[in-house]
Amino acid sequence: MTTYLDYAATAPLRPEVAAAMAEVLSTPLGNPTGSHPPAQRARRLLEEAREGVAAFLGRDPGEVVFTSGGTESANLAVLGVAETTLREHGEAVVLCSAVEHPAVRESARAAAQTGVDLRELPVDERGVLDAEALARTLSSRTTLVAVMTANNETGVIEPVAEVAEAVRRRAPQAHVFTDAVQAAPFLDLAEVTAGADLVSVSAHKVGGPVGAGALGVSPVVKLLARQHGGGQERERRSGTQDVAGAVGLATALRLAAAERDTSTTRVAALRDRLRDGLLGVTEGAHRTVPAGVPVLPGHLHLCVPGVEREELLVALGAEGVCASGGSSCASGALEPSHVLAAMGVAPGLAAGAVRFTLGYGTTDADVDRALAVVPAVVAALRRRA
Ligand code: PLP
Repeated sequence: MTTYLDYAATAPLRPEVAAAMAEVLSTPLGNPTGSHPPAQRARRLLEEAREGVAAFLGRDPGEVVFTSGGTESANLAVLGVAETTLREHGEAVVLCSAVEHPAVRESARAAAQTGVDLRELPVDERGVLDAEALARTLSSRTTLVAVMTANNETGVIEPVAEVAEAVRRRAPQAHVFTDAVQAAPFLDLAEVTAGADLVSVSAHKVGGPVGAGALGVSPVVKLLARQHGGGQERERRSGTQDVAGAVGLATALRLAAAERDTSTTRVAALRDRLRDGLLGVTEGAHRTVPAGVPVLPGHLHLCVPGVEREELLVALGAEGVCASGGSSCASGALEPSHVLAAMGVAPGLAAGAVRFTLGYGTTDADVDRALAVVPAVVAALRRRA
């Protein structure tokens, strides 16, 4: 029996998405740039999907660039904006929150290698962006401010509207990019990211396919393409589009939007039951994010002293409970979390950090099972230590 509590890593493919993609793939599909009927069909499906994604983001269809996922969207946003400015003005200054996903962080570091001035914006002990530090750092030289909508490790929701407002006031020439990959399953991005100029989403975090995503780009943004070729996606991302992937993304977002209110209440209640149950019986365990801080409904991040997180995750996995340490590199190895370090969590505590993330398919039975397994596994590991 598998109790899947790792939705923030990747959510199971929604059956409706699989069906929509199967239908797209089951009849001849041409290249969307062509003129014959199969090409016209591909183009129609692609543009319908674009309208769906645009509606979800609260943007015009022309602002949607289809990509291969959250990582590519972040690279396109950060490097695309920074390089344009560097070319046109001879300098570019990028401000990046200290808790960004590696997709954003490493894109910003890559930009720094090309001469972009990169500054890190600190967060407080809750993981929330330090608004005063932002205000102090913004200037007439600022090019781009990257602040995620919600954090992948802790689920902490960042004040994107306030950030956008501060940027408009103090650095009106600058653009705001928000990585909304984790927020998309639960938050109304049309509202929450309305002040941002660039916003990224990824299908597989919402119950869509891996390998599909999008970047919303306001018309005011000048963006240098990262991928050159036939000029698709209005010269912003060349390459024949993945029509089935785009349909999968649009379908997953439509379902997430339709169930947003009920899902938020339902999932938050399950998460709270899991949290209270685990904290009640797991000695020394505590919430990484203090009570009262706005967090995504599906996220539960705990620090469990006296256990090593990789050992804990493997032992939980052996019992069929799938959780995560929150941060990992491509090899799957757990690395020290820059997010927890930025929040000032002591390394000893961070060593026992575990993230449970719930989503659209999580049930009461999943929570019951986790409540039965996790405390027993922690106790067994502590006895062995
Ligand atoms: N941004 C955030 C906040 C994420 O959680 C992830 C995935 O872990 C990404 C970006 C990268 O998305 P993708 O896996 O689609 O490349």
